[in-house]
Amino acid sequence: MILSRMSGEQIIGWLIKEVLQMNPCPEKEKCFLMSGVNLMPVLRRTIVNYYCEKNFVKCARYELKQLGQPVPENLLPTGKLYITPGICK
Ligand code: SF4
Repeated sequence: MILSRMSGEQIIGWLIKEVLQMNPCPEKEKCFLMSGVNLMPVLRRTIVNYYCEKNFVKCARYELKQLGQPVPENLLPTGKLYITPGICK
């Protein structure tokens, strides 16, 4: 990241993103994917390690929530749908 080439607005946006990424996802307690679904342990661990703990701003579920749109229960953070009879409606 070359700060000297960025505008003030870009620097503020970058800082906000960096600070947000230092914290776990604020939706973690309420997220259906973290509580209500029977995911394969390796998939859950990967999601938690990559998205929930530090990259939640890149999570498709988090993004929809921030936009005030409904979040499909079987939506993965990648934006793809998790297909399993247990959670598909
Ligand atoms: S899956 Fe996405 S919305 Fe759910 S807790 Fe993890 S980062 Fe947050």
